Amino acid sequence: TISLFATKISIFHINDTHGHAWAFSEYHNPNIGGFAVIASIIDEERAKNPNVLFLHAGDINTGVPESDLLNALPDIFALNRMKLDAVAVGNHEFDKSRDVLMYQMSIAKFPFLSANIYKDGKPFFTPYIIKNVGGIKVAIFGLTTEETAILEPLFSKDLEFKNAVEVAKQLVPELRKKADIVIALTHLGMGQAYEGNYTTSEELAKEVNGIDIIIDGHSHTKLNEAKVINNTILIQAWEWGKIVGKLDLDVENGKIKEWSWTPIPVNLKIYKGKDENGNSMYEFVGKEYKPAEYVKVPLDYFAKIGSKKLDTVIGETKVLLDGERKHVRSGDTNLGHLITDAMMWKTGADIAFQNGGGIRASIKPGKITIRNILTVLPFGNTVYVMKMKGSEVIKVLEYAAKLPEGKGAWLHVGGLTFKSENGKVTEVMVNGKTLEMDKVYTVVTNNYMASGGDGYSMLAENKASGYDTGFVLADVVVEYIQKGLNGLIEKYDDTPRYIRK
Ligand code: ATP
Ligand code: ZN
Repeated sequence: TISLFATKISIFHINDTHGHAWAFSEYHNPNIGGFAVIASIIDEERAKNPNVLFLHAGDINTGVPESDLLNALPDIFALNRMKLDAVAVGNHEFDKSRDVLMYQMSIAKFPFLSANIYKDGKPFFTPYIIKNVGGIKVAIFGLTTEETAILEPLFSKDLEFKNAVEVAKQLVPELRKKADIVIALTHLGMGQAYEGNYTTSEELAKEVNGIDIIIDGHSHTKLNEAKVINNTILIQAWEWGKIVGKLDLDVENGKIKEWSWTPIPVNLKIYKGKDENGNSMYEFVGKEYKPAEYVKVPLDYFAKIGSKKLDTVIGETKVLLDGERKHVRSGDTNLGHLITDAMMWKTGADIAFQNGGGIRASIKPGKITIRNILTVLPFGNTVYVMKMKGSEVIKVLEYAAKLPEGKGAWLHVGGLTFKSENGKVTEVMVNGKTLEMDKVYTVVTNNYMASGGDGYSMLAENKASGYDTGFVLADVVVEYIQKGLNGLIEKYDDTPRYIRK
């Protein structure tokens, strides 16, 4: 039969929300985003047209203390209420243990999709779903970056991350037979930053025929317009729910006849200076949206559960404790020192290692709260102690000396200082004495690095010589500030412990 009128379908999408279920502030831009506002934006369309899909391209987890504290339960509860149709499995869905992920999946009323993650030869997650949207059959399949095996070694060891292109080449022809429209919901990432041996969403579009739409995440890419590669529409919605993407389709005879894509700003504003009373003035980018109460009320309740703990003051700092992304991925900072020192203080180890990428924020001068510490250290890492010969320790430093600036793997050390020239380690001092190759040292690090995270395979190789203390790194830092530093930081050692020439 030939339909006289096209079916209109609107697909809303977000990605990399990382705990930002609540509205949040950025410099000169208060009250941005929030799932309750996104709900209003989607509901506005739903009131006009029932043919709406709402998709999340992965990384619900990790980034806001109120969410992290409750294992992203608030986010998932809100997404249930917003009738999310599906999420792609993101690499950060493996930040916490498998039990946590299984629990999240059990409370979610939407599937976690990934067609390329296997366990014991079988897909571990739901590979795809097929939805009937106003009589149109829409297939949605998930793909997860193969990089997850490297980025998240802790809780993904038993899983196989198959090549996304190969999996899609098998699956797409099968889906084409079952559905009118085929959507890849991918946590792959686009652009140069994600080059390497991992499939980008652009490559997927180029290599695999028959995908109508790729809705992507992972690279936090801000697009002004959709890309079209090999007849595939490719879109991504920046990060943290700052925008929600809206793809409008006109479908005729089961085919996309026309389409348009709009990135909708979620209460983003432009700062316009101060008025005569000293109040900041803003101009909204696009429309101002009110939050939907049915999402806001439960989220506010969840925030309250955490706030008593998070607002607890644990000390004060007179100086900025520097966790700026650029700084901790290219050199030493006082905050890196404080974290490594805290690990040694707690465990009595000789040497401490911490990855710069695990340090996610600075702490401004003033009162320090638990929220501050959890913002710096959101991953829930535990503290791992192991024995290593000097000859093994030097392998860690040699690896670090070869890292380009900007990598999350950038090494922060405690208990030792070292120098390198042209990528070669030239001097290593442990507690003021030259490192001895045959001596056995006690080394403390976080469980991420101990599992070989950020490429520290030489730590993973020594793992059996030690044990996970079970101490949560963030708690250890809190305790160190309270007891080790008596709650007051006048200044913290910022003499470089690593000098590179
Ligand atoms: P995306 O949200 O797109 O997945 P990402 O967190 O993967 O972003 P980056 O912001 O570049 O990307 O951070 C990656 C770095 O974060 C890693 O190189 C590592 O240093 C650090 N990291 C990631 N997961 C953990 C973890 N579980 N524990 C400690 N550090 C981690
Ligand atoms: Zn990601």
